[in-house]
Amino acid sequence: MSAEGGALVLFSGGQDSATCLAWALDRFDTVETIGFDYGQRHHVELEVREQLRAEMVKAQPKWERKLGGDQMIDLAVLGQISDTALTSGVEIAMAASGLPNTFVPGRNLLFLTFAAAVAYRRGMKHIVTGVCETDYSGYPDCRDDTIKALQVALNLGMEQRFALHTPLMWIDKAATWRLADTLGGQALVEIIRTGSHTCYVGDRTNLHEWGYGCGECPACELRSAGWETFISA
Ligand code: ZN
Repeated sequence: MSAEGGALVLFSGGQDSATCLAWALDRFDTVETIGFDYGQRHHVELEVREQLRAEMVKAQPKWERKLGGDQMIDLAVLGQISDTALTSGVEIAMAASGLPNTFVPGRNLLFLTFAAAVAYRRGMKHIVTGVCETDYSGYPDCRDDTIKALQVALNLGMEQRFALHTPLMWIDKAATWRLADTLGGQALVEIIRTGSHTCYVGDRTNLHEWGYGCGECPACELRSAGWETFISA
């Protein structure tokens, strides 16, 4: 694949985006990261980002020279206009819409639009995001069609040829661990296991076999089930 223009990775500090960062570092010559602060309950995920980035490239010296800057975009306005279990203290449950109330309407559309605006300014062609249809949480903005439609809209609206990459789109959480293993071996798996954060309620005190988290929220359940499948294979 062409490394033309470099890659911008949407990096939240979770397992998926950490694996996407490794994927991008493996195939592009220059890689930058972007994160979004939208008042999420699991704000701790933003705090693990810097250390996680540093540990990932320390373990893979060939990646160190590729990794460029990181920036955090303040999207507090998204939290202000959303009334969801990810941005307020309400219990995580299914909403009347049939979607989990952790769904933040428009979140990935906004993230990718902001990422494209940054990529435009930075001269980067490739935008990498960890959205996935396989462990489908019911989030319509994670669908392959949504991302493909957005790529068309961004390229038309900004007169560019951005490529939106979704390396995790068709794999489950166990395969995401296997991908990390392929990209960086056991060292990378261990860095992501202990250094990334997925738990929706932001629990960073309990370290389980599969990483930190409350062990009960949907994100923890998905992560622990994927880990179990991964290590028992
Ligand atoms: Zn949790």
